[in-house]
Amino acid sequence: MIRQQKNESRRIMIANRGEIASRVAKACRELGHTAIGLWTDNERNATHLQFCDEWVHLEGSSNAETYLNVDKLVEVAKKYNVDAVHPGYGFLSENAGFARALQAAGITFIGPNVDAIQVMGDKATSKKLANEVGVPTVPGTDEAVPTVEGAIKIAAQIGYPILLKAVAGGGGRGMRVCNNEEEVRANFDAVGRESKAAFNNGDLLVEKLIVNPRHIEVQILADKQGNVFHFFERECSVQRRHQKIIEEAPSPFIGEDEELRQNICNTAVKLAKAVNYDSAGTVEFIMGEDKSFYFLEMNTRIQVEHPITEEITGMDLIVCMIQSALGDSLGIPSQEFIKRTGHAIECRICAEDPITMLPAPGLVTGFETNFPQGTRFDHCLFKGLEVTPDFDPMVGKLVCKGIIRDVAVRKMRAALDGLFIEGLKTNMPLLKVILREQKFCEGIYTTNYIKEIAPQECVKTDFNHLRFYEVLAGVEARRMGI
Ligand code: ADP
Ligand code: ADP
Ligand code: MG
Repeated sequence: MIRQQKNESRRIMIANRGEIASRVAKACRELGHTAIGLWTDNERNATHLQFCDEWVHLEGSSNAETYLNVDKLVEVAKKYNVDAVHPGYGFLSENAGFARALQAAGITFIGPNVDAIQVMGDKATSKKLANEVGVPTVPGTDEAVPTVEGAIKIAAQIGYPILLKAVAGGGGRGMRVCNNEEEVRANFDAVGRESKAAFNNGDLLVEKLIVNPRHIEVQILADKQGNVFHFFERECSVQRRHQKIIEEAPSPFIGEDEELRQNICNTAVKLAKAVNYDSAGTVEFIMGEDKSFYFLEMNTRIQVEHPITEEITGMDLIVCMIQSALGDSLGIPSQEFIKRTGHAIECRICAEDPITMLPAPGLVTGFETNFPQGTRFDHCLFKGLEVTPDFDPMVGKLVCKGIIRDVAVRKMRAALDGLFIEGLKTNMPLLKVILREQKFCEGIYTTNYIKEIAPQECVKTDFNHLRFYEVLAGVEARRMGI
């Protein structure tokens, strides 16, 4: 007799769009759950719906009316008998009010418990907790500094340069470097005002600016039974405007230093345990030239760059996140079970000018791929896609893996050369320059990479139409079996 494992099928709504909505929908289907996708008035073609089993229209066009509307989302979830909601990243993914409202409606939030979101959602309370449990934090305050005089006093104690940082900031916004007292005076009110406008909270922290740092973060995965695991680190130092462009795992800066790797990973686990963490999440650190590291923040959600961790560990983090939220076992017996092999790199493909790196909305008039073996492309592209200014300009994530870093870099070059997006201005010409630039190829770079090396100055922007149609012809020929 054949015995089949019984898995209860649940109805899972995805409160997001674009590539992450597709990614979550695929995981839901793999687990035998029903994926319920959403679409709004200003998404003419929502590609993520093709991976969903049911589609629900969210009336309205602005984000405030739709993907950021807690009441409407909860109402829809109730109406369609949803068991659980996955928030993706961005939007309401770190919104404790959303998680709480779902909970009140008897719906599972696929993410951590409300208290963990709340403590970690604020850069001051999370820093305070880190200090309490002995996790190193960046010198400065772990409380909002209400006055410019107060900020100047703290800056004088810790020494310039300093960062004024919004306690509620995110996405690289709400941060300003100040090199002296005059700059603090000139910026304090403005950063507070901007933060109030963007995050509805004008509170600021004063923090020492770590010079020539690396952004290194640790992937956490925990279940509802108290098990907390780490999935090693990622390095995300290639940034523009404090936002990541290229990420890799493992960190080339940590390299072969296993003691340092264990130390930073175990520190992340310690912090996650301190907040009773029970889902997928990321503890971000900034690492100085001397390899000392300091806690920056914890992102209590799945992150954009999670695929590189999946590539080096072989684990499906979205699947695990869903299992964890539903109270199922992750099937991970111990930390030692989680192994890593090889090296993975992710390039964020964004609809933006490759030189100014500013968003460039537009229409995709052609899209083809001709990738090297093993390429992963998580995306929401198709011919006819209109990228509007309403949403984040990221349209895809190109992920390559190699047994060593050099192979991953080589594959990424070939993958970038095999990705054809016509009509839309993207950052691909910039990525192509970086993947051939010496310092990046050697793995020696800091968060100042873009400013110092200025790869954007070597960007060639002419779109090669001839090459595009050659590839199209090749793809057609393959389809026809020629
Ligand atoms: P990750 O840490 O996963 O790399 P980011 O910090 O770049 O992610 O943010 C993930 C997504 O969420 C991006 O699309 C970013 O624009 C958006 N985002 C993050 N935090 C905020 C915020 N506080 N307000 C608005 N958008 C945000
Ligand atoms: P966000 O919520 O916007 O992601 P983070 O605190 O994670 O804010 O910081 C984003 C980026 O800003 C980091 O990856 C790093 O490049 C830079 N940064 C933040 N704090 C510091 C610091 N104290 N010193 C140097 N760089 C910093
Ligand atoms: Mg961050």
